[in-house]
Amino acid sequence: MVASIESTVGTERKVVTALPGPKSQELHARRKAVVSAGVTVGFPVYIDRAEGAIIVDVDGNHILDLGSGIAVTSIGHAVPELVKAVSEQVAAFTHTCFMVTPYESYVQVCEELSALTPGTHEKRTALFNSGAEAVENAVKIARHATGRQAIIVFDHAYHGRTNLTMALTAKNMPYKDGFGPFAPEVYRVSMSYPFRDGRSGAEAAEFAIKQIETQVGAKNVAAILIEPIQGEGGFIVPAEGFLPALSAWTKANGVVFIADEIQSGFGRTGAWFAVDHEGVVPDMVTTAKGLAGGMPLAGVTGRADLMDAVHEGGLGGTYGGNPVASAAALASINFMRDRNLLERAGVLGDTITTVLTNLAQDVTIIGEVRGRGAMIAMELVEPGTTNPNAAAAKSIVKYCNDRGVIALACGTYGNVIRLLPPLVITDEQLADGLAVLSDAVRAAN
Ligand SMILES: *Cc1c(COP(=O)(O)O)cnc(C)c1O
Repeated sequence: MVASIESTVGTERKVVTALPGPKSQELHARRKAVVSAGVTVGFPVYIDRAEGAIIVDVDGNHILDLGSGIAVTSIGHAVPELVKAVSEQVAAFTHTCFMVTPYESYVQVCEELSALTPGTHEKRTALFNSGAEAVENAVKIARHATGRQAIIVFDHAYHGRTNLTMALTAKNMPYKDGFGPFAPEVYRVSMSYPFRDGRSGAEAAEFAIKQIETQVGAKNVAAILIEPIQGEGGFIVPAEGFLPALSAWTKANGVVFIADEIQSGFGRTGAWFAVDHEGVVPDMVTTAKGLAGGMPLAGVTGRADLMDAVHEGGLGGTYGGNPVASAAALASINFMRDRNLLERAGVLGDTITTVLTNLAQDVTIIGEVRGRGAMIAMELVEPGTTNPNAAAAKSIVKYCNDRGVIALACGTYGNVIRLLPPLVITDEQLADGLAVLSDAVRAAN
C-alpha cells in the first residue's frame, strides 16, 4: 500500500467555480495574444500547484489528475524526495554540459538504465531532452551501426513531432498536416490490433514481416521501431506473440529492434518496461516521459556494440542529461522502488479494468477495454458496430473536465479514452475518478 502524501493541497477533488474559472479565463485570454495558436490546450485551467494526484488551479479548484501530464508524473506531483533532490542540485550547479565537463548523476542514470532495461547483456546509454530526440538518436545509431537505411514503423505509431519523428508517426492530423516534406527511408507496416484485425499475434507478425520483405527487403532494414503498447495511437496492445515474433525476425536478419517505451515504460504497465510482459529483449530502448518525474529527460539504452559503433562526438546536445533532470530521475527511480509502485500499477490496473469492464456490460458504446497495469483505455464505438465514436470520447472528456477530473482521449480515430493516473493515486481518489468517468460514459451512451 502506498502511503498517502500529507499536504495542504489535501487529497480530495473539490470544484469551487465553473471550470475554467474566472482567473483561468483571464489567463487564457492573455495566452491567445502571445502563444501560437498551433499549441493547443485540452482543458484550459491554469495551474497554481499540485501534490500527489491533485492539481490546484488559480481559482482554487482541486482537480483529480488521471493523466499524469501524459504519463510523466507517475510518482505523483511534488514528491518531497524529488523536490529535495532537484533543489539541492539547482543550488549546487544547473549546467556544465556533459560533453564539456561531466558529473556523476548522468553516469548514475545510465547505470540505472543498464540495470532496469530488459536483458543482462552489456549496454550503453546516451541521454537527451525529449522523447522525439531519443527516438531520432536511436534511428541515427541503428543506421550507423548497421550501415543500412530503412526504418520500419507501424500503423497508429506515435514517435514525436520533429522532422524525422513526424515521418515515423502515423497520424496526419494534427501531427503532420502541411509540415512536409518528410524524411525518407521510413516504411509503415501493419500493427497487430486485435480489436480490429482479428489476427493472432503470430498471424499479424507474419503479415507485417511479409510486407517488410516484399516492399523493403530484409537486408535494407536498419531497424524496426515499435511501441510495445501504442500510446497516442489508442493504447493498442498487440496480440500475444506479435512482439516476440518480430524480435526473432530482427535477430535472424541483422535488424535492430528498437522498443519505444517512452509512454509504456518506467513502471506504467506494472513492469519496468512493457516488453517485459512477453520476455522480449530489445536491442535498443527509448525512454522519456515517466523517467524523471516531470523534468525533461530522455534516454537511448542499447547493446554496447551498437551504441559504441558511433564515432566519437557523433552523439550529444547542449542540455542532454542535464544535472537537474538527472537528479530528478534518480530520485524518481528510488521512489518507485521504495514505494513498490510497479506492484501498485498492477493493482490500479486491476481496479480500473474491473470497473470499466462492468460498465461495458451496461452501455453500448464501449467496444473494448484494454491495456496493462496503470495504462488502461476504452475504445468507443457506435452501438452495435466497431465504427469509431469520436463524438462520445469528446463528450466524456468534457463531462469529466467540467467536474474537475482530467481524462485524456487518444487514438488514430480519436475514439479512445485513456487512463494514466499517477501511481500514487489513493484507492479513494481512483474510486472517485472512476465514478465520474462512469457517469460520463453513461451520459454519452
Ligand atoms: C510522447 C512520445 C514520444 C515523444 O516524446 P516527446 O518528449 O514529446 O518528444 C515518442 N514516443 C512515444 C511512444 C511517446 O508516447
